[in-house]
This record gives sequence, structure tokens and C-alpha cells, in this order.
Amino acid sequence: MTPLRASFYTLGCRLNQAETASISATFAAQGYTIVDFGEETDVCVINTCSVTEGAESKCRQAVRSVLRRSPHAYVTVTGCYAQVGVEALKRIEGLDLIVGTEDKMRVVDLIDRPEKQDEPRVVHSSKISREAFTIDIVGDYSGQTRANLKIQDGCNFACAFCIIPFTRGGARSRPVHDIVREARGLVAHGHREIVLTGVNIGTYHHDGDTLLEVVQALELVEGLDRIRISSIEPTTISDQLIDWMASSAKLCSYLHVPIQSGDDRVLRDMKRKYTSTEFAVFIERVAARIPDIGLGTDVMVGFPGEDDAAFTRTRSLLADLPLAYFHVFSYSERPHTYARRYTDHVPPQVVQKRSRELRELSERKKAAFYREFADRSLRVLFERREKSGYYTGFTDNYIKVGVSTQAQIDNALLPVRICGMDNGLALGTLIADGG
Ligand code: SF4
Repeated sequence: MTPLRASFYTLGCRLNQAETASISATFAAQGYTIVDFGEETDVCVINTCSVTEGAESKCRQAVRSVLRRSPHAYVTVTGCYAQVGVEALKRIEGLDLIVGTEDKMRVVDLIDRPEKQDEPRVVHSSKISREAFTIDIVGDYSGQTRANLKIQDGCNFACAFCIIPFTRGGARSRPVHDIVREARGLVAHGHREIVLTGVNIGTYHHDGDTLLEVVQALELVEGLDRIRISSIEPTTISDQLIDWMASSAKLCSYLHVPIQSGDDRVLRDMKRKYTSTEFAVFIERVAARIPDIGLGTDVMVGFPGEDDAAFTRTRSLLADLPLAYFHVFSYSERPHTYARRYTDHVPPQVVQKRSRELRELSERKKAAFYREFADRSLRVLFERREKSGYYTGFTDNYIKVGVSTQAQIDNALLPVRICGMDNGLALGTLIADGG
């Protein structure tokens, strides 16, 4: 019998990508052939996001796109939107299964016969476990150099704009031994860099272990060259972790620390846990302790009550701090959140203008950061040859480097001398082949 085909589509954050990789591995383990999204398929799993309204409409489009190509495909939707948007999802024609957060990782077990349904079956629980969890599989990141590794889920913070505590529940962590087991598997699949992911990974806590113990245990995994920490809340990063990063050969000199706003009134209304000064002091301290560190941030534009003065304070703080780049998001009102009660909305054209300004500032800061490394030698983990002809990859402090070479250097970690810039890329020359 021809094996059934399964394809996957991920919306939203890095954690969703990590979870799709695990879900996909469970399908492969049950004999499915994994095909690319867009190819003809028998089953499609769409792992959704609910952070902005835009993500919800992308989910609807994805469902339609699968059914256009494969009208008989059994279509499953899981993830954050499946947790909070069941009623809306039920109205999308052609959906067969809706799986909420609690049962997300066992989607494959819920599909006994992938035959199209007259109306979608819903597997959903409003209660989400707060217990530690294990993931008994190795994520499938074929075609990717870096692999994500989920170490934590959920969040106990209650930022006023954020729906995630409602879609993913409270904070919970994965035991170190289970993280290390998957990391060994990822290394056996050829991955040299692992990106630690979760919702609020700085709050990782299991049996007395913190994020530092996770990193230390992973550093002992033979064949693993780099460990990267993904987005982490500023108030959750310990001095010990910073000290460890300063001297570690494997933990990347890189932190992505969301600021959201540089104005204290807005930060208070957002229910963030720091002031702009505390954030600035932290960033300056880390930059002084780890001189070449790549520091990035997320900033939200158009939060209710963000007036011109508040925006100007945010922009000048971002301009002053030693940040290499920022991701700019527009505020999007979400169900369940505290911020829904705020009424002083920022007009969309103002939000657009502010976003543009910050994106331009981010580009300038990135270029300035890259220029600091001119003529220096950095190690790059190469990922792919791009349409431009450059082979590209990242340094440990997250500089994207391109080189011109005829050699096949996917997944090679090579020293490169930085010699210029082109279109947001640091250009380099290979110092020696190998790696
Ligand atoms: S820390 Fe705040 S923004 Fe981040 S997931 Fe938790 S509630 Fe959301």
C-alpha cells in the first residue's frame, strides 16, 4: 500500500516551528511520507498563531490553499488559534480536525482514518496542564542548518497586550535529561547549532535546574558547536548566565531581549516588569561584559496611549542603546487581554509612520554594528547559497555574512574575514576551507 503523505504549515513564532518539527517527526514515525507544503498531500497539519489578527487570516488562506491543490486532503488545524478560535475555525469549509493546545503533540494519534468529514471534529480542552513535559521524539529539521529545541512552554506573566498565556497556558519546563536526549538526536542528524526555544525561557525551572543548567548540560553534547538562546525576557536573565556566556565557547554571544516600549507610562500600561532605565542599564551592562555581543529587541508601536512624546522617548532610547537591530510590531487588539479595556487608540496611519521610522533606524543600527567588524575574522556557520549567488550563514553574534565561493559549504563552520557590506549582508572572504 502506498504510504500516506503528510505536509505541514507553520504560522507564527519559533516555538511553533519547533513544535511542527516534532509533530512532523511523529507522522514520519507512523509511516507517513513527509512532503513539502504546497505539494499534493493526503493530510495537512496547519500549526497556527493568534498573536495578531493578520495571523488568523493567514490561517484561513492556508486552509484554502491546501484544498485547492489537494481537495481530498484531511486538513487539521492546531496551535494557538485552534485554542482560542474554535468557533471561527468551524466556519472554515473543508476543515476536518481542530486540535487545541493540550493535545497538540498527539495530532497523529487523533487521525485514525484521514477521511474528509462533513464538519470538523474538535479536540479541545480549556484546561492546559502546568506539569513538566517530555517530547519523546527528535524534531525533523531536514533542509535546515540550525535546529530549534523546545525547553519550556507557557507563561505566568500577564503583559496587557499578550494572548499567549490564554493560548498556551502557564509556564512549564522540560527536564534537562529529555532536552539533552533530543539534542543528541539533532546532532546525529547533522545539526551543529541548536536554538533554545520556549514562550518565556528565562523562567525555565525544573527540579532546581535553571536555564544555566540547561546550557551547561548541552555544552557536554559531543558534536554540538553552538547553542543559541532565542528571545528572552529582560527580567529573567541571571548574572550567572551572562558570566557563562562571556566565557563559553559554545553559548552564542547573542541575546534578543524585548523592550516593547522605551516610555515608562506605556511600559506600566503594558504591565511589563521593568522601567526604561532598568532596561537600559541591563543592556549597557551586558554590552560591557561581553564586548562583541549581538543584541536585538522587539518593539511594539501603537499601543493604546502611545502619544508623540512616548514614541519619541522610545525612538531615542533605541537609538542610544548598543542594539544591533530590532523587530517592529504593531499593536493588535486581542481577545481576553487586559489592553482591550484601553480606549485611547493610535490611528493606523500614525502607527505606520512610526513603524517605518523604527525600521529605518534598525537598518542603520544594523549597518553600524556590522561595520564594527570590518577587517576582523569571524566564524560563520554556512547555511545556503542564495539567489544573489552569495553563500550565507551567521556568526555566533548573529551577523549575516555572505561569501562568493564555488565550494559547497552548507553546514561548514569557517573563519571569514569581513570586508564590506551589500544589501544588509556583511561580505566576507573565506580564510581557509574545511570545518
Ligand atoms: S512575557 Fe509577556 S509578552 Fe511574553 S509571552 Fe508572557 S505575557 Fe506574552
